Amino acid sequence: MQNNPNTTLVTPAAPIANHTHGGRAKCLQRLVRLDLPVPRTVALSFDAVQRIARGEMPDIQAIVSQFPADALLCVRPSSEDPDWGGPGAVLNIGMNDARYSDLAASLGEEAASAIFTRFVQSYAVDVARLDPDMFDDVTEDGARGLQQSLYAYEAEYEEPFPSDPAEQLAAVLKSMARAWDGTSARLLRQAKGAPADAGLGLVVQEMALGVGRGQSGSGVLQLVNNETGLPQITGRYLSQSQGRDALEADSEAVYLSKDPRGTSLEELAPEVFAALKEHAALMRAKLREEMQVEFAIEDGRLCILDGVRVTRSSQAAVRIAVRLAEDGIITRAEALMRVQPRTLSELLHRQVSPDARRDVIGRGIAASPGAATGQIVFTASEAQASAARGDPCILVRRETSPEDIRGMHAAHAVLTERGGITSHAAVIGRGIGLPCVVGASGMRFNRSKRQLIAEDGRVFEAGDVITIDGTSGQVLAGASKMREAALDESFQTLMDWADELRDIDIRANADTPADARTARNFAAQGIGLCRTEHMFFDSGRLTVMREMIFAETSQDRRAVLERLLPMQREDFTQLFSLMKGKPVCIRLFDPPLHEFLPADRVGQRELAEALDLPLSDVTRRISAMSEYNPMLGLRGVRLGVTIPEIYEMQARAIFEATLEASKDGAAVVPEIMIPLVSAKREVELVKLSIDAVAAAVRAEQNKSFDYRLGVMVETPRAALRAADIAPYCSFLSFGTNDLTQMAYGLSRDDAGRFMSDYVRQGVFSEDPFHVLDTEGVGELLQVGAERGRAAQPGITLSICGEHGGNPESIAFCRDAGFDYVSCSPFRVPVARLAAAQLAI
Ligand code: PEP
Ligand code: MG
Repeated sequence: MQNNPNTTLVTPAAPIANHTHGGRAKCLQRLVRLDLPVPRTVALSFDAVQRIARGEMPDIQAIVSQFPADALLCVRPSSEDPDWGGPGAVLNIGMNDARYSDLAASLGEEAASAIFTRFVQSYAVDVARLDPDMFDDVTEDGARGLQQSLYAYEAEYEEPFPSDPAEQLAAVLKSMARAWDGTSARLLRQAKGAPADAGLGLVVQEMALGVGRGQSGSGVLQLVNNETGLPQITGRYLSQSQGRDALEADSEAVYLSKDPRGTSLEELAPEVFAALKEHAALMRAKLREEMQVEFAIEDGRLCILDGVRVTRSSQAAVRIAVRLAEDGIITRAEALMRVQPRTLSELLHRQVSPDARRDVIGRGIAASPGAATGQIVFTASEAQASAARGDPCILVRRETSPEDIRGMHAAHAVLTERGGITSHAAVIGRGIGLPCVVGASGMRFNRSKRQLIAEDGRVFEAGDVITIDGTSGQVLAGASKMREAALDESFQTLMDWADELRDIDIRANADTPADARTARNFAAQGIGLCRTEHMFFDSGRLTVMREMIFAETSQDRRAVLERLLPMQREDFTQLFSLMKGKPVCIRLFDPPLHEFLPADRVGQRELAEALDLPLSDVTRRISAMSEYNPMLGLRGVRLGVTIPEIYEMQARAIFEATLEASKDGAAVVPEIMIPLVSAKREVELVKLSIDAVAAAVRAEQNKSFDYRLGVMVETPRAALRAADIAPYCSFLSFGTNDLTQMAYGLSRDDAGRFMSDYVRQGVFSEDPFHVLDTEGVGELLQVGAERGRAAQPGITLSICGEHGGNPESIAFCRDAGFDYVSCSPFRVPVARLAAAQLAI
């Protein structure tokens, strides 16, 4: 057998590998190499199992002859990745009348009957594929229970129960091999990432009975807590049991180490417990992983049956990786590779607990991770009132607009019917760490009746409690059990290690001092995008802003802008001071002006009052400003060119803040970014006017300062004409939200409605607003970067669209030689880890 690679006795030197015999076989071999008391085991390769499924049986006698003549056997699955699962184990193969008599003589009739009954029942269900219900009436233990089980089998199968161990083993192997090929098994493992041709190995092992005289039983042990990852001996042991019986909910299993709550294995069998602990520690050190040890005790003799990777929460995943590295068992680089970047984003927010019951009433795009429960409110002002009362609320809107900002700050989560991953609600939600589900188009939002209608027709009124799960995109009825965010010292340690290794900078998109603080806490290396329009949503400012929009003449407009100037100066001074000399990239005003005007009658009336204008003037002005396609209309630099006073005010505020913030520290060098450029002349014009403002401020204050001017590349033309544009710039930052929108001709605010259909039907492999389309949009990035760099060597290149926080997109930017990526503050840790993994 040793020479047959398909059926191999597991010895230290046997040719066994994960990709030929599966993870379990390989793990057992490692345990054998560690000299642990592992029962004799034979491993069947993927190839052998495939043949068995086709009906080509290996030499069964040769397998059986590897074991003592009176041994019972078990067969367990061994897939390449244990997470891919496999058919359930079958225990006690070889039981027949003769062995029953032997066991009854040596262990007693009760133990012999229990073993045989278990085998008959699992053979009937797992191998002969009979209905498990047929044993419902078999209630009696002992010999009578065995008789009844055999009788039930024979009545149903219409053949005697097979008594030849070789025949039994062949049937078990065949049924397990075929189960792996079944449709549901295939779908299940493919959902866990298994390739279509994933193989299954099988291991045949001598049973450690766990039932019989003296201290006999079985259990599992691990050295860490699954939830926290902290060292803690956990697990269960059940006397007179086999397999994973000890883990069944209603079992009378005992603790492992001494425990005030009840009996423990440590008290029942102190020496066995001590040995078990030692073996587990050895496994941790040599298998370089936290393992759950499956063991059996046979009349006081310990057997190690198996080891599987401990299942773990996100928090535990980080702590386990860090502790293994701190203990010198793995390297820091390995620890970093063992944590999925996605895992970190789970740690940063409260989440619906994995064991919570989910009453799903709607689904949308998971736009901002984390979960929150609260009462439904339908307007921003209700959200504020609710917050003032101290009641958590969920802001439910068809879509959000700048007017909702204050309501969003007051709410615990946001749900919108429309919008995609780059919609207003999504961008703001991610920016401030607010759980958010957008584009829940299967639900109906009836604002006038103040009702939210679930996908299944259930009606929820204002004040009803729902839960938003922004991690999964689900909307749940009622309050869900939550798991708290868990940022512990292991997280910090892992982040420090990531920073030592990564070779691309990570900045944050931050618009407010609060965002900047979050960015700094997560060690962002600067602000890569400050969307200044977000600074005007404050109630006091919104009215001034609206006055500015309503100004009839340039002179009137300048007068109102004079009032906005000190506010902006204060904003920028705060940002510069908070970032303590780290770069801050300020984007000049971007959106169409009418976004700042009220959409409904009530708001328009309020505005007429505030501006002391007739309502008709207000409505006329609003309709005059409305555009058929505002996203492609008068926004970004186009505003800057046609109404230059706005950018001039912002530039002055930035420069005055620069001088102010430079007073108590190193000189601040602000970065000013021009949005939505498509032609070089736009940059020329804006640069001229900003340079003039800089000169004026220098002259007025008799002080000098530097600044860097750059362009946001977010139209395809800007990417293609980067060679024209770059000579005016210190940096180019790719705004991939608009660039994706314009490259595809796909509205970022409307695509959510049909995106899932498109992804499901394979038109797009992923939502391109979420994961960068490296083929199309990516080509624009590459062309823009190459042409920009050729025209202006040393120019700084970056990305600041939402893709900046996505690991695959970071990989693309790193390959393209970008200097940094900028993402929402809460995604900074994810980006730091993803970037480190790319450098390893
Ligand atoms: C972009 O378009 O990628 C971008 C960052 O700007 P915004 O999302 O504000 O349009
Ligand atoms: Mg943009």
